[in-house]
Amino acid sequence: MTVVNEAHALLSRLGVDRKLYTGGAMASRSPVTGEVLASLPVTTAAEAAAKIDKASDAFRIWRMVPAPKRGELVRLFGEELRAAKADLGRLVSIEAGKIQSEGLGEVQEMIDICDFAVGLSRQLYGLTIATERPGHRMMETWHPLGVVGVISAFNFPVAVWSWNAALALVCGNSVVWKPSEKTPLTALACQAIFAKAAARAGGVPEGLAEILIGDRAVGEVLVDHPKVALVSATGSTRMGREVGPRLAKRFARAILELGGNNAGIVCPSADLDMALRAIAFGAMGTAGQRCTTLRRLFVHDSVYDRLVPRLRKAYESVSVGNPLETSALVGPLIDEAAFNGMQKALKAAEAAGGKITGGSRVETAHAEAFYVRPALVEMPAQIGPVLEETFAPILYVMRYVDFDEAVRLHNAVGAGLSSSIFTLDLQEAERFLSAEGSDCGIANVNIGTSGAEIGGAFGGEKETGGGRESGSDAWKGYMRRATNTINYSKALPLAQGVSFDID
Ligand code: NAD
Repeated sequence: MTVVNEAHALLSRLGVDRKLYTGGAMASRSPVTGEVLASLPVTTAAEAAAKIDKASDAFRIWRMVPAPKRGELVRLFGEELRAAKADLGRLVSIEAGKIQSEGLGEVQEMIDICDFAVGLSRQLYGLTIATERPGHRMMETWHPLGVVGVISAFNFPVAVWSWNAALALVCGNSVVWKPSEKTPLTALACQAIFAKAAARAGGVPEGLAEILIGDRAVGEVLVDHPKVALVSATGSTRMGREVGPRLAKRFARAILELGGNNAGIVCPSADLDMALRAIAFGAMGTAGQRCTTLRRLFVHDSVYDRLVPRLRKAYESVSVGNPLETSALVGPLIDEAAFNGMQKALKAAEAAGGKITGGSRVETAHAEAFYVRPALVEMPAQIGPVLEETFAPILYVMRYVDFDEAVRLHNAVGAGLSSSIFTLDLQEAERFLSAEGSDCGIANVNIGTSGAEIGGAFGGEKETGGGRESGSDAWKGYMRRATNTINYSKALPLAQGVSFDID
């Protein structure tokens, strides 16, 4: 079966109406072969506004449904995802080019967040706070926000939406999703799976989860619409720079999950076998197209010559190829622009004195598919392209001697998403995790930068945008807090002893 036929068969099995992906103006391509999979009708601005209105109406009903009952819908969605895991995971591999275990892993992440959100639906609690006034009680209550807009990137085409949607829904919001224009089919599949869960749950208002198909133009409608209370936007820092100020202008809430330029430090005491595996997965996995991909590595002078030659060997031998037909560990880049971006960065690195292993195109039968050998670049210093995120498998390696200097260089980039240190020295590990250590939202010890679990809050600082999604108390970002003070006495004492007696 061709990739196109297989995609259509999967979409049909997953319950997606053919009309949604035929005869339209927007092409979805598979990076695996470069072929056009489908042509989707684009949501017009008027249609987008109508969908947002519908979601706003749905919110008015949904906010009054008790949270544990809202959790029941998400529980059923998790069940439907379990049943659809093989098909949806395969579709992720076809449309985003992920190797199969990663395609399936992405769906597993959706299932995990559903489980988390179901438990959360009975734990949306606030504090009771001591009050200075007799016969009074003070507490916090949490309420849903309204319509939550989700803008997502191509590289996690389904998981990122589910992180947002599962939490937003149990919190009592409705959700309008603008998926990446590069991966709209997996988004349609998610909507179809969600519709099955909604039908089983019963009593779910129409419009609770809507989808807008198109590029940034339709994303802008979502960003500017006054009925959208929060926009959770995942993508490049460039996108965040456009979206953030527009949301701020109308005082809407923002969760920004933007680019990363993640680094690791390998210390003298590091377990080099462990570090090697973690670095290889972090830097080459998902063909370098994770926001948490390892992009910079600082290796202590005393272990450099033991680690880097082994790393070079791993780069020379890693299997690159069609993720649907082979067990290759590295699949394709998303498109030609990504390939050109990678070549440009490598040229700049070479000009700055970098010594490159790999990085060239791997020819296949498909001229429109862009496979590359991951590149390991030994750099004399942290300069030029090392300072920027290039969304491709390039790992820049640098020597260090002084620990403090390594941490300083680690933090000396715009982004602040994920970081890791490899050491068996307690002082180094703790200092890296301390206030003077890594300035990222994620800081790991003896684990690579990528592959986070849903239980922790996910996100980063500085040019990564500051947003948090997924576990811990990230749910608070999808709700508004009210402080309530109740007077059950017969008097009206004023706070701070103020007196205001009228006759
Ligand atoms: P991108 O910025 O090109 O697009 C992301 C999404 O934003 C798409 O849906 C796009 O249509 C939309 N968009 C772009 N400009 C917009 C605008 N002005 N208004 C409204 N919507 C707009 O990113 P991409 O190439 O799809 O993804 C790769 C990038 O995403 C990398 O930088 C990566 O690090 C980042 N990313 C970050 C995280 C995270 O959690 N921090 C997760 C995944 C990806």
